[in-house]
Amino acid sequence: MGDAYASCVFCGEFVLHVPGWASDVPSYRLMRATWREEHAFLVGSLHFSCLRASAVRAEFAAEFAGIATGHGREIAFQAAGGTRTLVQPGLGYVEEIFRGDACAVHRSDTRDSWLVQEHAGPWYVLDRPQIEGVARGERPRLDSGVERIVLPGEPMAGLADATLPGLLDSLGVTDRYPGLAAGEPEYEFWKYSAPKRVLEYAVIATPPLPAEAAAFLRDHAPGYRPIDFDALGREERHRG
Ligand SMILES: [Zn+2]
Repeated sequence: MGDAYASCVFCGEFVLHVPGWASDVPSYRLMRATWREEHAFLVGSLHFSCLRASAVRAEFAAEFAGIATGHGREIAFQAAGGTRTLVQPGLGYVEEIFRGDACAVHRSDTRDSWLVQEHAGPWYVLDRPQIEGVARGERPRLDSGVERIVLPGEPMAGLADATLPGLLDSLGVTDRYPGLAAGEPEYEFWKYSAPKRVLEYAVIATPPLPAEAAAFLRDHAPGYRPIDFDALGREERHRG
């Protein structure tokens, strides 16, 4: 992961990955920047606040939804020597179970996973532990595990003891994380290695789901039926 990858594709500022406030689009997603004439592929990190504020949020959201809600699709693009085709992998969130003014909720047909996507672009993946928590009346917590990131410059003094707000402030990107305190983030410093300025850390937070999605999931979660993997397997064998 290089420095370029840690810069927001919209604002160019440093992106500290915090679940619910920032994410990334990996190269293997083959996501196209359909708003550019040459339909270049989009790869990199982004602040969700920058996506929401972007003039191309609708195009981004449509392309992301096209990937997220399918099982893969063939895409054609112009390259040196003519038209080439590639298979853009899908994420399998094929079943739309809610559509509101601000977002849609899709459920995977192959695993117990749900995708909330704002019409303005930002997305949140909830898996079975989160939905079981919602069914118990809890707010879902997202845990993206240990993140490794290259800091853009020399770190602040006392990095190992820094709080998340202090770290974001030292990086000059506090305003890219609006409402973060409401997500009650739990930040944990793991390790810093100076030669390459690699910070390892973890953050668990409650994502800023649109109110209508949170309300829908509170109704949906207690009654959902887990995917029956045995039945899926039988179907596969029948097909095979
Ligand atoms: Zn940004």
